[in-house]
Amino acid sequence: MNPVVEKLELAEPHLANWLSTLGLDVEYVRSGGNTLFYRRADGTEIPVLDLVGGYGSVVLGHNNPEIVAYAKSLLDGGTPVHAQFSRHPYANDLAWKINGIIHREFGDPEPYSAIFANSGAEANEVAVKHAELDRVLKLAELLEGVAAHAEEARAAVGTGARLEVSAEALAALGVEGDPAQEGGEGIERVLAAVDRVNAERAGAAPVFLAPEGSFHGKLIGSVQFTHNPGYRTPFTALAARCRFVDVSRPEALTEAIDEERRSLFDLRAEDGTVRVVERELPVIGAFLLEPIQGEAGIRVFDRETARRIQDACATADIPIVVDEVQSGMGRSGAFFAASHIGLRGDYITLAKSLGGGIAKAGLTLVRGSRYRTDFELVHSSTYAKDSFSTLIAAKTVDLLEADDGKAYRLAETRGNQLLAVLEGLRKEFGDIVADVRGRGLMLGLEFHDQSGSTSEIIREQAGAGLLGYLLSGYLLRVHSLRIFPTASATNTLRFEPSVYLTDEEIARTEAGLRGLIAVLREQDGETLLHG
Ligand code: PMP
Repeated sequence: MNPVVEKLELAEPHLANWLSTLGLDVEYVRSGGNTLFYRRADGTEIPVLDLVGGYGSVVLGHNNPEIVAYAKSLLDGGTPVHAQFSRHPYANDLAWKINGIIHREFGDPEPYSAIFANSGAEANEVAVKHAELDRVLKLAELLEGVAAHAEEARAAVGTGARLEVSAEALAALGVEGDPAQEGGEGIERVLAAVDRVNAERAGAAPVFLAPEGSFHGKLIGSVQFTHNPGYRTPFTALAARCRFVDVSRPEALTEAIDEERRSLFDLRAEDGTVRVVERELPVIGAFLLEPIQGEAGIRVFDRETARRIQDACATADIPIVVDEVQSGMGRSGAFFAASHIGLRGDYITLAKSLGGGIAKAGLTLVRGSRYRTDFELVHSSTYAKDSFSTLIAAKTVDLLEADDGKAYRLAETRGNQLLAVLEGLRKEFGDIVADVRGRGLMLGLEFHDQSGSTSEIIREQAGAGLLGYLLSGYLLRVHSLRIFPTASATNTLRFEPSVYLTDEEIARTEAGLRGLIAVLREQDGETLLHG
């Protein structure tokens, strides 16, 4: 091959260049536990303590030996990876395992059906797609009822019933004159208008709701529910709208639901009178949320907010999609982070660590009472539910559940230990560290804004919203720590290591962060960028 062409960077070349400007362009060649190794030009391997943890996808560590051994045994045994349209008892086993955990953590015996996917964004899109099928089927039932009532109204007027339509209804229907005086012709004009207006209203796109800061993926559908405008706004024309709600304000959600309410017209024949009435149109597709917001800077929802959301959605019959893609799989100290706040989803999505750090797997759980079997006929993916990733997911769940849930206890105790260190730094260096948040092994350390820094380098990076990445480069080069900011709140560094985090690793993390804070106090941009 032409050597010049060979050197050209073609795989997302812009990103590679940008990483190199911050000293983040290392190539990792090996990994195990909480360590990634990169190779220097002279061939030596440098170990890096990975606190990003595959962005939450390696709760049991990189290349967990038991998962690797199991993966090898599957391949050695010739597992039929791609055998679509056949029986998949292993998928049923995984669904049962997870249902058992739902029952234990939420006290909810209602079974959840499982739909398989390949990624977090896809698992969320499956939930939203299912919710839309449910909405459309409910809407069809509603319209069937309206059609039957129209026949009854026509018959009633034919046998002498009086037509009574309010001035507001006439205006909304665009009906002129007074159809009540026109007998048979009048009811026909009203029925035609009801049909036309209902078809228009029923055909309008649904709207979805999500808390401000939400992150649910970057595919065409899921990016609509991802608040960050940089990711979302170029693509808003491609799918249904999401309205972002400041759920910290108690009345915000019910206000949003009320403002989005739309109705259909219906007719009611009763006691010799035919009236036009309004019926609520199911317009809100779902409310999506992460029990611990990851990319918004690690923000934990509290029980009171969860209760308000649950009550408002139950009253308006809006399904709740609980996105546990990042917070689930044990990281919070329980399998489901939502279980800490008693938030029961109609849909629950999992991905990331579900694949044990090796496979790519996503899962959408749908509460039995909402489940539409028709969905299985209209949704599938070539790779979803394949034996390799599904069996690895089941193995990962087994490892989390082993020894009476030892992994959850580790997540909690190791997380508390790391949290104490971060809290200590906040207390000691309140001028640099703005906040510390999180639960278990999903922690965030927020730095004060540096866009007014005396250092041009720091000022520029902070102004571009890239402060966290500048800090990441320094931590990697100088302290061999891999720590990245959250995607939509880049002043917050995220900590999502595996449950095997040791005291020594926590001490190294603290030493590196102390070094970083000292450099920031000095406003030494040069060291942050090139040190
Ligand atoms: N939901 C949440 C809460 C996430 O944190 C992410 C990824 N950061 C996703 C969905 C998207 O997952 P994926 O990258 O696997 O598509």
